[in-house]
Amino acid sequence: MSSIFSACNCSIHHLGRVHRSTWMRAFPWLRLYQCSNCRKLQLLPQKEVDRAKVEYGSRGAYRDRLAPRSVDPNKGLGIGERPKVGG
Ligand SMILES: [Zn+2]
Repeated sequence: MSSIFSACNCSIHHLGRVHRSTWMRAFPWLRLYQCSNCRKLQLLPQKEVDRAKVEYGSRGAYRDRLAPRSVDPNKGLGIGERPKVGG
């Protein structure tokens, strides 16, 4: 039997917000989530869940947007454009 304070091992995308019971208001930084996969109720810090969702969601999404352009490291560095000194 697992504690309500521990998260299940499913993807974080399965977590949905659920209304807390009265006693749970003793932990204002915790939010009650239910996993839609295993139906486990879990009290988790909202900050942790939000951060995990952002990290999870950013994976792959950026890969499509940041299409790798071929970058020539010798170009665009301003080499050879030194201002003339003395004259
Ligand atoms: Zn689960």
